[in-house]
Amino acid sequence: MNIHEYQAKDLLKSYDVPVPLGVCVEESSSEAIRQALIVFQTGNRVAVKAQIHAGGRGKGIFKENGCHGVQIVDYEHVPEAVRSMLFNTLVTQQTGPEGKQVRKVYLTEAVKVQREFYVSILVDRVRQCPVVIASFNGGGDIEEIAKTYPESILTLPIDPLLGLRAFQAKKIAYLFQLEGEAFQSCVRCLINLYKAFVDLDASLIEINPLVLTEEGTVCALDAKVQLDDNALFRHNYAELDDPYEKDSKEVEAGKQNLNYIALQGNIACLVNGAGLAMATMDIIQHFGGSPANFLDVGGGATREQIENAFKIILKDPNVKGIFINIFGGILKCDTLAEGIVHAAQSVQLKLPLVVRMKGTNVERARKILSESHLPLMSVDDLAEAAQTIINQVK
Ligand code: GDP
Ligand code: MN
Repeated sequence: MNIHEYQAKDLLKSYDVPVPLGVCVEESSSEAIRQALIVFQTGNRVAVKAQIHAGGRGKGIFKENGCHGVQIVDYEHVPEAVRSMLFNTLVTQQTGPEGKQVRKVYLTEAVKVQREFYVSILVDRVRQCPVVIASFNGGGDIEEIAKTYPESILTLPIDPLLGLRAFQAKKIAYLFQLEGEAFQSCVRCLINLYKAFVDLDASLIEINPLVLTEEGTVCALDAKVQLDDNALFRHNYAELDDPYEKDSKEVEAGKQNLNYIALQGNIACLVNGAGLAMATMDIIQHFGGSPANFLDVGGGATREQIENAFKIILKDPNVKGIFINIFGGILKCDTLAEGIVHAAQSVQLKLPLVVRMKGTNVERARKILSESHLPLMSVDDLAEAAQTIINQVK
């Protein structure tokens, strides 16, 4: 689960990670902005930051006006900056050319920056433990930093039973060439960040940049936090969820208990079981096709769920054909067939449809499909079925 910068900073603040004072605005009226500005001192500069689930906002550009997604402005120019962002579309390196609409803007106290560092904590699958990654050269894109200054990056594997130890945090503070109070403040900040990572069940905390302020303290100017979906049941994160940031088809599928992930291809897949769904996508790729989605309707799907799944995949305008691959176990083939027929008739399906079924009640299912007089193709062999749908969408 991804959350916004302002939410991430609120969470981190509760672990005593230093973050600048900030407020979120969702309206562009003068009154709403005036209310938000009450917490700031007149005369100070304010960082105005677009809230979207994508990085690169500082260099990102709004389609409508060419303004940037992070603007540091004088107090009296905040309303103008907010209006240049709210409800406009921000294009960054991470959003793709279509960009993302901004619905929230975060106002934070502008900090006078001496130096920018990079810190992240994530789970390293190869090492099978959390790692802390730090670089002396923060602010920019970490992939770029890794290419340009590989020697400036430190990767510390963390023993999950011991946590981030003081000597490791100090190693990072030395890497940052900090001294005195700044050094101490950095060590505390890192220890607290790691505590937050564990307590929150985060899969990623990335602070880019962590800065040394002109006053000589350390502070997180940006924060990206990803929460582990598998641990959501242990927390109360519901209000952190922002449905606008998600693919509307994925939100809809979640409500129907369907595992749906939108992809870029043109062959929609409807499959039961995650393993079979992966294999189906692989075989489509293998024969030169491109799947429009991953969709696992689960082992015990009902007729209604099949119909809903059908409707969700058809909402994707890129879909040029549908491939149904079902192994009838708990979900019987005839239940599936009824679902398909009903759904195809109710949406007046015009796209090519290839159905491959095996398992319980497959004969009865074939009969239902053939008696429906729908223009679908029933193919038994998986390889042949995949090639058939690929040829159909060409
Ligand atoms: P991102 O581009 O989406 O990663 O957004 P960031 O929050 O990292 O902001 C981009 C850049 O703006 C940062 O790397 C900083 O250089 C700069 N920036 C953000 N907030 C402040 C601030 O309060 N003061 C100063 N001086 N620079 C800031
Ligand atoms: Mn950043």
